[in-house]
Amino acid sequence: MPKSDSETTISELKDLVRSFVEERDWRQFHNGKDLAIGLSIEAAELLEHFRFKSVDEVTQLLADPAALKEVCHELADIFYFVLALSDHLDIQLSEAFREKLEIARERYPVELAKGKNLKYTELQKGRKS
Ligand SMILES: [Mg+2]
Repeated sequence: MPKSDSETTISELKDLVRSFVEERDWRQFHNGKDLAIGLSIEAAELLEHFRFKSVDEVTQLLADPAALKEVCHELADIFYFVLALSDHLDIQLSEAFREKLEIARERYPVELAKGKNLKYTELQKGRKS
């Protein structure tokens, strides 16, 4: 029975990736470079679904269950490589995620960033003037 996100830990998912890799003797192919390349390729595959489409067309596309399933699978492919790479590099993904979110909070303080889509370097310019 599939488990929801709220019932699954990142550690469980890393274990699933590890088993999948070991059963196939793919550890030999799991190095930082090739895992990062795999991650990037899967991210590009996600983008293929949206290429040359307007925002409205993408919204329409994602209303189709079959298309949404394909997008879900691309996200899963990306996540596989995120998990595999973080496992390979012995990175605690939850810790890294929280740390990076804290950095983003500092870069994008609510009072400067709310309702704006500017990069933090542009927001900081506004603060100085
Ligand atoms: Mg894929």
